[in-house]
Amino acid sequence: MSTPDPDVYEQGRGMDAHNQVMRRIRGRNQQSYDPHEPTRVWLDEDNTPDGVRQSLTIILNTGGCRWARAGGCTMCGYVAESVDGGSVSHEALITQIEACLEHEADRADSPAELVKIYTSGSFLDEREVPARTRREIAEIFGDRERLVVESLPDFVDDDALADCMHSGLAVDVAIGLETATDRIRHDCVNKYFDFSAFEAASEIAENNGAGIKAYLLMKPPFLSEGEAVDDMIRSIERCSEYAHTVSMNPTNVQRYTMVEELYHDGGYRPPWLWSVTTVLEATAAVDAIIVSDPVGHGSDRGPHNCGECDERVQIAIKDFNRRQDPSVFDEVSCDCERTHAAVCKRETSYNQPLIR
Ligand code: SF4
Ligand SMILES: [Zn+2]
Repeated sequence: MSTPDPDVYEQGRGMDAHNQVMRRIRGRNQQSYDPHEPTRVWLDEDNTPDGVRQSLTIILNTGGCRWARAGGCTMCGYVAESVDGGSVSHEALITQIEACLEHEADRADSPAELVKIYTSGSFLDEREVPARTRREIAEIFGDRERLVVESLPDFVDDDALADCMHSGLAVDVAIGLETATDRIRHDCVNKYFDFSAFEAASEIAENNGAGIKAYLLMKPPFLSEGEAVDDMIRSIERCSEYAHTVSMNPTNVQRYTMVEELYHDGGYRPPWLWSVTTVLEATAAVDAIIVSDPVGHGSDRGPHNCGECDERVQIAIKDFNRRQDPSVFDEVSCDCERTHAAVCKRETSYNQPLIR
């Protein structure tokens, strides 16, 4: 029997401990949800390889991700919104899609060209979304331009992709890579897979003619502000070799998560919006579309600056998402940039957060 080296041994133990804590925290959630209702649906616009397009974003309620049932990622509260019992029938999933179509018809003049389906788990996991359901959903949206489906890399295979692509749509797989650094993905995010799994999934997608959209997470717990910025710059550079689009999103404090516990105990501050702009500026020359959607911006539980400049910086980020032009950030400034620079320089993992 081989003896694990100290690094692997430590990482494995950390994951068990994280999972135990996460299960305890999630166990406090007593709410339950209707399997016939989507978790969320909204209309927006998105930058795609074909240009800026109207988008319909759907969060399907599929019973939640398998990994979350083991404990799951330290910042992820989505599983708290899933239905009890862990599975949703084909009929109920189609009813959810119909509710989303109604939502769209009530609010938009024409159907969105881009449809994004997230499941708080994996659309390509047979246990969450059966092949038959995947095929029917791809047919329902067959007249659109592009379909983005979320999946962990393990479930990306030829058959699952064929289900999504059979109606001729351009398909992208959205993978929550979070960071290109395995150590941070394992020990700070508590996500189990390695960068090599992302590489393998990208290859399968490419062989099938599908694209990859990588989702990165800025500032998981246990990283200082400066470390988080450096990690994102490195990660964007590395994963843009595989993904045509990288969506770099700052952590927000979601309910029933380890991040929320740390936040309440003075051990976590969501990233500064200046950190987001720093990364977007530093990676503007990378050969991929780089976007960011700071959810909850300006609030204490979301990415924020001083309170005075948050809205203006958020508008500049939105503008960057559309135009990919870093000069949009020259238009915004605030005194708190100096505080942010000092935090990036002085905050360390053992004394954070330096400022809340
Ligand atoms: S982030 Fe994704 S993999 Fe992690 S617990 Fe949430 S849904 Fe599961
Ligand atoms: Zn400010």
